[in-house]
Amino acid sequence: MEACRVSDPGSNPGPDVYFFANPESNLYLACIKCEHMEVKVIRSPDRKKTIQAKMVGETLIVYLPLGMHREEERKLIEKMKQKLEKKKLKRHINKDDYLKKRFDEFNNNYFQGKLKVNSIEFVTNQETKNGSCTPANGTIRISHKLLDMPRWVLDYVIMHEMTHLMHPDHSKAFWEKAGEFKYTERARGFLIAKGMEEEETESKSGDA
Ligand SMILES: [Zn+2]
Repeated sequence: MEACRVSDPGSNPGPDVYFFANPESNLYLACIKCEHMEVKVIRSPDRKKTIQAKMVGETLIVYLPLGMHREEERKLIEKMKQKLEKKKLKRHINKDDYLKKRFDEFNNNYFQGKLKVNSIEFVTNQETKNGSCTPANGTIRISHKLLDMPRWVLDYVIMHEMTHLMHPDHSKAFWEKAGEFKYTERARGFLIAKGMEEEETESKSGDA
């Protein structure tokens, strides 16, 4: 598409944002060059209230209604960009199947292969929890932050959440089972020191 630069009175988009008008249609484009992603904004009068975003190759295309305030647009685009970057990161960190392999290994070593899981994956939206387990659905989610920690800490959290498939709360039986993994005590100490695990051994509510 042949795009030509147009002046954009009344807005101050900053040096990294360019606004274009396509002479053949009434679409307006903005290209925001950033380190990770190119963003194109398409403002269409046909999309009165619809706000949509999709990835085309490495480019994020954002559809916006005409007449939105520039500052509002920028905030929205930033939010969508972050959301898609998190998605991309999630795909990236899950692609080597580390969790699935560890699950199978621990299942055989500690649970006689009896545990069943529907999904075990790294997630990027668990800000406070290291991991979570929903025994009813057979789902385990592990925080991507643990990828920055020693491998035995990550493995402990995997063991912890797997043990929840058998013991939903932090009962004595839970800790006995989780303690069969040789790094459990050490990893808990590590996480407590970092303020990332509570110093408790008895059951509490929640699925942490
Ligand atoms: Zn727990």
